[in-house]
Amino acid sequence: MPMFDESDFGVEAPTNSAQLNAPQEKMSVGSHEHALPIPGEDEDGPIEVPATVSSISQAAKYMHNLSISPSQKDRRSSRNSFGVSLPIPRSKRQSRLSSVHHAEDGDSGRKTRPGMPPIQPSREILASQIQTIEAKKVAKAKNMAFSFDIDGVLVHGDLPIPQGKRALQILNGDNELGIKIPHIFLTNGSGKPEQARCAQLSKILQNPISTDQFIQSHTPMSALASYYDSVLVVGGVGYRCREVAEQYGFRDVIVPNDIVAWDPTIAPYREFTEYEKAMSRPRDFSKHNINAILVFSDSRDYATDIQIIMDLLLSENGRLKTKAKDPVSQRIPIYFSQGDLLCPTEHWQPRLSQGAFRVGLEAMYKALTGVDLERVVYGKPELATYKYADEVMASWMEQIHGEEKLPENIYMVGDNPASDIIGGNMYGWNTCLVRTGVFQGGENDENNPANFGVFPTVLEAVQAALRKELGDDFKMHFDETVNPVLHGSAADAAAII
Ligand SMILES: [Mg+2]
Repeated sequence: MPMFDESDFGVEAPTNSAQLNAPQEKMSVGSHEHALPIPGEDEDGPIEVPATVSSISQAAKYMHNLSISPSQKDRRSSRNSFGVSLPIPRSKRQSRLSSVHHAEDGDSGRKTRPGMPPIQPSREILASQIQTIEAKKVAKAKNMAFSFDIDGVLVHGDLPIPQGKRALQILNGDNELGIKIPHIFLTNGSGKPEQARCAQLSKILQNPISTDQFIQSHTPMSALASYYDSVLVVGGVGYRCREVAEQYGFRDVIVPNDIVAWDPTIAPYREFTEYEKAMSRPRDFSKHNINAILVFSDSRDYATDIQIIMDLLLSENGRLKTKAKDPVSQRIPIYFSQGDLLCPTEHWQPRLSQGAFRVGLEAMYKALTGVDLERVVYGKPELATYKYADEVMASWMEQIHGEEKLPENIYMVGDNPASDIIGGNMYGWNTCLVRTGVFQGGENDENNPANFGVFPTVLEAVQAALRKELGDDFKMHFDETVNPVLHGSAADAAAII
């Protein structure tokens, strides 16, 4: 039920009698004090004609009531309405996603650990001897885990944050026990298959990162494949998100370019290249129902993507070239992989992200229909994403330590108070806020303070957590020359020898 009024078209009548009666020259355009001086005001210059606008912002009435950033102050950590459910995959990852990428598996095929000596056959034996002696400490090391945000914590775009590399080396075994301390990566990043992203991160950070310890914003959305036959997947570079969705098991994946290739007039401002046309899969979308819209990643063309999404939302059950009689009951569902307004990049200030795209879309939808757009937002700080993190953490523990259990002391390291920190706090994790990304504030964030503290970089956060769990004297280096026999008690030494 479209509800238009005059103000939707930018024509708004003066609302009070003072405005109506005021002489023209007294009416101001916004704040007159800041108006530009008029060249030749008393001579032949331009004439300033005030607009008859209300002083009240028009944006407020188009804001979705859930689109303000989550904050602990109002005890809200979700952008979703009460009652919305977010499906996540039930069990361990499918084997098709599993593979470990080594940072420097060169042409020789020999595995190296950057910045560390080549692996000696004796090292693992040495580490296992130490671990046998230090059983209590080992138990503590296996009962803690880290969950790392990536952008603004470990990397800026394609550039590593140097302390991130060192922090991962410590957790990958360069510590006094020579033990792997469990850690997963929980990012609101998106747009590439998990395998490609892990390979890229392994290279940038020079540490092995497995798809089995990696969750990006759309990873849990693979569960939606069993709900919808035909989906529109929006965002990302080129056709990569189609590839992602197909890997997740979606049977019929349509991207906006398929629709533009079918009918270019749907996106009047779009210049469609021959290459794009050749890569697209057009069909007659007026004879095909799309069952859901999945925004996987940042839109590369807001105008085209918003137009096509809007056409579908206003259509009859997702069929283009139709118009729903009731746009609410006949509307297909729309999912967003995450809700961050900003994302840190190589640029000096964070850039607008998927949350900003969503807010714009919601406002346009409300302006056109008069109703809030019902939508589901995944990613941090959503509970579903953290629950999925537990699944991944437990199965990663099995891979590295043969024990499928969830460590009790989990540390979230992030740079965004409105996603990493609030989500971690609400989920009962220890939260560490770093200063290398979105957070630029003072002692701690005012709305969503990190409960374990604020640290200059990820390295200080990791070191502080390790000291808290394993003792102030815990060494962040594996000594290849250590003699385990002298390390523990005589009885332990005798047992090993
Ligand atoms: Mg971040």
